[in-house]
Amino acid sequence: MQKTKDIIMDYLELPRPIALVLDAAGNIEHLSIEACQLLGYELSEILGANWVSMCLPQRWQLKTKRMYDAVSADYNEEPQCHTYPVLAKNGRQHPLAWHIEQRHSPSGAIVGSISTGIKVRDNALQEKNALLQSAARNQAVLDNAIEAIISINAQGTITHVNKTTEKIFGYPEEELLGQNITFLIPDTEKPLEHYRATLWNYMMPDSNKLIGINRELGAKHKDGHQLPIELTVAEISIAGIRSFTGIMRDISERKLSEARLKQSKEEVQQARDRLAHMDRLHIASEMSTGIAHELNQPLTAISMYAQACRNLVDNGKSDIKSLLSTLLWIDKQAQRAGDIIRNIRALVGKQDPHHQLTNINDLIHSTIELAQVDIECRTITFKCQCSETLPMIEIVSGQIQQVILNLIRNAGDAMVDLKPQEKIISIISEQTCQDFISIIVRDTGVGLDIDQPNEQLFQPFYSTKTHGMGMGLAISHSIVHNHGGKLCANKNYSDGAEFSFTLPVMPILGDH
Ligand code: ADP
Repeated sequence: MQKTKDIIMDYLELPRPIALVLDAAGNIEHLSIEACQLLGYELSEILGANWVSMCLPQRWQLKTKRMYDAVSADYNEEPQCHTYPVLAKNGRQHPLAWHIEQRHSPSGAIVGSISTGIKVRDNALQEKNALLQSAARNQAVLDNAIEAIISINAQGTITHVNKTTEKIFGYPEEELLGQNITFLIPDTEKPLEHYRATLWNYMMPDSNKLIGINRELGAKHKDGHQLPIELTVAEISIAGIRSFTGIMRDISERKLSEARLKQSKEEVQQARDRLAHMDRLHIASEMSTGIAHELNQPLTAISMYAQACRNLVDNGKSDIKSLLSTLLWIDKQAQRAGDIIRNIRALVGKQDPHHQLTNINDLIHSTIELAQVDIECRTITFKCQCSETLPMIEIVSGQIQQVILNLIRNAGDAMVDLKPQEKIISIISEQTCQDFISIIVRDTGVGLDIDQPNEQLFQPFYSTKTHGMGMGLAISHSIVHNHGGKLCANKNYSDGAEFSFTLPVMPILGDH
């Protein structure tokens, strides 16, 4: 652009045109002062001389003489435009662009010619050709671009469109040129207050907020449908005149793939949730004997206390005080039964997948309580070393509870053949570094196979148990991973098995 501007400025700074009057034989009848100055002759010196042979370089003479002869011929009344150089007295050549017309006598006879010449730069012709070639090349690039390219002037009127614009918007060029850019705004965005906010408006002068920035917005196709486009606006300013070019890419395909990708991500997530739910149902079904036992106790107690109350009333021995204390016992037992049911429902029901600020130590303790619903787990000694200074963390608590429960149950399975006093599960919570807290679950069971790669442990359906599903560790691994942490088995621990997982102090939200 700078080059074009330079050339224009050079033209603007040129001296005034020179004038030349020739007779029919091509001899000089008059020369303007500017012409004499340029050639370096006094007028008196040059009057009557033959213009072509005196004032033109040798190699231009024949060609130019023919042209002047043709101008002086009867049949050629149209003014002519030619470019040829003149030869000054000092031997310098000056290229000039000429406008040449016939001169007539009052009777209408051709008496010669009158020419006006404007000095052009020595390399103007080459530059003009180069400019034309470059413009043609640019046009080809514009027309073959995959983006629609639309230029508007200061009033928002479309001044230029490339071929792709026709393809994307469905309008032929002639229907777009001269229209205001708002012509391409979808009807839904038409009310002024709405489309003010749209990028089309940013293409207007006086607003350069979005120059050079990519934005997505809706545009209107000729057939009325709305299409998503990505717009970049470029501003061009020549000699103080601003214009704007919008480069628009049709992103319908991209939007479609994004929607498909989002849908498949959601489907994967749903499948994961279903799997995790199956895992919890599996745990619950394995714990069903324990659950029944756990529920039976408060229910039996309630029944016994209720009978006792009835007997007191039947025997007429009831005093309000003893009745009240028995009813209080009934209430307490009912609450215990309610707590057990709530815990089980939380485990098997659909879980709230949202991150909540959670005290991880409280979660560990309530998970131990839940695990102890299982009769097998009741013979285990739990040792907790929970750091008191842990920050609250944002987690999907139901999911992390499932992880801890899985690790506890696996530990229980690994210690099934031990004497009750040997069954110990240690749970440690600590902040290992600024960004993560870590939870370690250790047992005194059979331990892990040292030669077995860690990845295999976390593969779905890997199990060494007769009735194992092999899903617990795989699901736990993916839950921890989705929280931004890591679940590992520590093969160096030799007193049994050790699993640990980390959770970030700052959550990874939106992904679970
Ligand atoms: P499942 O418990 O149904 O087998 P998991 O994915 O929970 O499925 O566990 C996979 C396997 O990892 C188990 O079958 C067992 O071989 C091994 N494993 C897990 N936890 C322990 C542990 N605490 N001690 C020893 N082996 C374990």
